[in-house]
Order: sequence, then C-alpha cells, then structure tokens
Amino acid sequence: MGVTDSGVQPQVGHEALPDAEGLWTDILDYVRPRVSREGFETWLAPTRGRVLSSGVLEIEVPNSFFADWLSQHYSAELQAALSSVSRQELSVSFRPRDAVDTGVLIRRAPARRPATRQNGYRLQPHLSFENFVVGESNRFAVAAARSVAERPGANYNPLFIYGGVGLGKTHLVQAIGNQALALKPALKVYYTAASDLFIELIEAIEKNTRLEFKNKYRGLGLLLLDDVHYLVGKERLQEEVFYIFNSLRDAGSQVVFTSDRPPQDIPTLEGRLASRLGSGLVVDIQAPELETRIAILKRKAAMDKADLPDDVAYFIAARVRSSARALEASWIRLLALASLDSRPITIQLAQETLKDLVKEDEPVDHNRIIKACAEHFGVTLRDITIGGRTKQLALARQVAMYVLRATLSLSLKEIGGLFDNKDHTTVMHAIKRVGDLKTKDPAFASRLEKLSKGISRGEPR
Ligand code: ADP
Ligand code: MG
Repeated sequence: MGVTDSGVQPQVGHEALPDAEGLWTDILDYVRPRVSREGFETWLAPTRGRVLSSGVLEIEVPNSFFADWLSQHYSAELQAALSSVSRQELSVSFRPRDAVDTGVLIRRAPARRPATRQNGYRLQPHLSFENFVVGESNRFAVAAARSVAERPGANYNPLFIYGGVGLGKTHLVQAIGNQALALKPALKVYYTAASDLFIELIEAIEKNTRLEFKNKYRGLGLLLLDDVHYLVGKERLQEEVFYIFNSLRDAGSQVVFTSDRPPQDIPTLEGRLASRLGSGLVVDIQAPELETRIAILKRKAAMDKADLPDDVAYFIAARVRSSARALEASWIRLLALASLDSRPITIQLAQETLKDLVKEDEPVDHNRIIKACAEHFGVTLRDITIGGRTKQLALARQVAMYVLRATLSLSLKEIGGLFDNKDHTTVMHAIKRVGDLKTKDPAFASRLEKLSKGISRGEPR
C-alpha cells in the first residue's frame, strides 16, 4: 500500500471511503454563501475531504495554523452545514498536511442544531464595542450607539446609522445589541437584515402566518434592522417596516436602522417611511483615517493573537484606504500567506499580499483626476479639457484644476498645459473660485471632499 503525496494512507476497507470527498464538497457548498468570499477562498478552498470513518470526517488542510483558524472561525458554519447535509451524528477533524503525527488534531463536537435563543437573537458576541476602533470617522456614531445601548428607547429613537460598504455599520448595531443585552439580560433584542426580513415576510404571506410575524416583532425591546436601503422599490416590505416601527415606538421600544445612504435618499412610499426613518438621530460613518486604519489592523492582529509589527501595519494602512473590511481582508490574506510559507510578517510579505488584493496603491495621475472630475459632473473628457463655456463645464474644469493642485501639487503652468494651454492666471482664478465656494457652501465642500477621496481610492466618480 503506497503513501500518497500528502502522507495520508489510503484507507481501503473503511465504511464510506468514497463519500468523504463528496460529503465535504456538499458541506462547502452549504458554507460558501454564508461566509465572506475572501474567507472562503483563503481558508476553505484549499481543504479536501479525505476519509470518512466511524462518524468522523477527516479533512486535509495545508498546515496546523489552518486547522486552528478553521476551528476558531468557522465552527458555527461547519456545524450548521453538518446538520444540514447529514442526518447522522458526524464530526469533522482537521488534519494538517505537514503534521508528523497522523492523529486527529481537532475533533468537533457532534453537530447539533443551533439552540434558539429568545433574547439576543442573531447577535455575534465578537462584534462588540470593545472590538470596535473609534476614530474621527466614526466618533459621533459610536457615541450615539453607546447611548442607545445604555438606555434603549430613551434618547434617540430611531437611531439611523449610514455609511459606505465595510465601514462598520453591522458591527456597530451588533455592538448595540450585545451591550444592551449585557446590561439588561431580559431585553428582547433582535437583529435582522432588511433582506432577511423580506424573505421572512414572503414566507409569512405564503404560509398564512402574518399574525405570528407581526406579534414577533411587536414584542421586541430592541430591533436592529440592518441595510434598509434594500427597501427601495419594495412597497410591501416598506409598509410592513412602517407598521413594525410605529408599533415598537409606541411601545417605547428602540429601533436602530443602518443604510448605505441617508434617509432622504431612500425613496419610499409617499415619503412617509423616509420621514420616520430620519425622525430620530441620523449619524454617518466615514472612511477611516490613517491612525484608525492602523489601529483596526492592530486590533485584528491582537484578536488573532498574531504579531503585527508597526511598520507593516503602517505599510498596509497607508495603501488600503477604503474601509475596515478591506483592511481585514488584507490582514487575513497576509496571515494565511505567512502561515502557508512559514514566513514572518514583514513589509515584503505585505507587499506580496497586497499585490493581487488591492489596486489602491496605484499612483494617482493627472489623467485619472481629470477623468474622475468629468464623470462627476457628467461631462466628456474632451469637453472638460478643451470644450465649451457653459457654466457646468466651467465649474467642472475649475474643480479639476483645484483637485490637480491639491492632490499632485502641480504648478499653475503645468495645470494650464493640461487644459488646452490655458494661461496660468486662468488657473489661479479657477483655484481661488473653488476655494471660495468651498468656504461658503458646505454642500459643495462635502461634494468636493467626496470626489477627492474617491480619486485617491481609485474610484472614478
Ligand atoms: P458594513 O456593515 O458597514 O458594511 P461591517 O460592520 O460588516 O461593515 O464591517 C466590516 C468588517 O470590518 C467587520 O469585520 C468589522 O468587524 C470590521 N470593522 C469595521 N469597522 C471597524 C472598526 N472601527 N474597528 C474594528 N473593526 C471594524
Ligand atoms: Mg453590513
């Protein structure tokens, strides 16, 4: 009997040998849509089902670090998958390919259906205030969230938190739930995403259980409704949310909403719901600034009990600028790469990791700035550089000149050269005008800031 590449003895004669690989594939199919894509590609894709014997499914993983990581981070999903794909008592053990010892490294408990909890439903304990890094970009949102967690229903009702993808909205509402529950264990806390609420509603309609559905929500002390921008265009769901919100608020219960945009930008039925959504306190979360990005990376490393040198944290944070989620993805990839090749975490390794992960460190060049400004104002590249004299075009061109100066510190003459050889006094005038507008008009200032940030992140807009 030969030994395979990975050192596993082919175990002829075992009860269900041919099934191990297929069973594991089924399990992975179940887990895939339930975890992040990077997480799946990094940690689960490189695994293989090897042997199924006496109720233990042995999974080959690249090394022992993978075994630890999988059992720490994916055991809930894997256990749910086990219950879903097999009726038998099954456990999974991870066997590192590099292990000298052929024994089982980690033995999972037999799969059980997750216990249904009455309170704190769908809260993830690690999404806490303690693990949430506070910086300028989210300080106000965190203060409001803490205040709501301490006295639900008392101060800001509803609390509406909005911000871009991966900036920490879900983490923050989960932290509210965890903290509120820690302070008042009897409080009925329920977290759900608007898309899940929609599925639940459809089911209730189909099964004719609308009353149970309504009662369930009516009885809550704290409802955390994530991603309400999903309500756009779903009138039936809007009506239901309107109803749920009104009855909860009448009962003095707290509601927290999150969204990728402010309430007034969620077109809803007759605007009724939109005005309710924004009737309490509305706070936003911005992209994290450098210090916060460094702190987020260090926090993630500390949670994974890994050593992240300061210079490497700085190196990543200076390049990955868009969101906490992007930072987390980079960190996970770095950790995986370090473990696969047993290499220390250094700038060089970070460089390799980031190479195929982010395009954010591409230098900002003048063409990209001009193109982004043109797109932002809805004019063509030709028009902004050479074309006409309409007000809109003039403003677009002046903003582009301003951003070029601010971002690349080009000389007035250099900037003029990019716009059909405009005179340096014209450029100077343009920059002054945009500067004035920025001081006078806060809406313009915020638009300008968004545009500049988008450009430095490589998002043409
Ligand atoms: P959103 O819901 O806004 O898209 P999430 O709350 O899902 O973003 O955050 C994405 C990831 O980044 C999560 O793993 C979260 O824990 C982490 N994260 C976001 N903001 C912070 C922060 N300020 N401190 C620590 N981790 C953060
Ligand atoms: Mg979210």
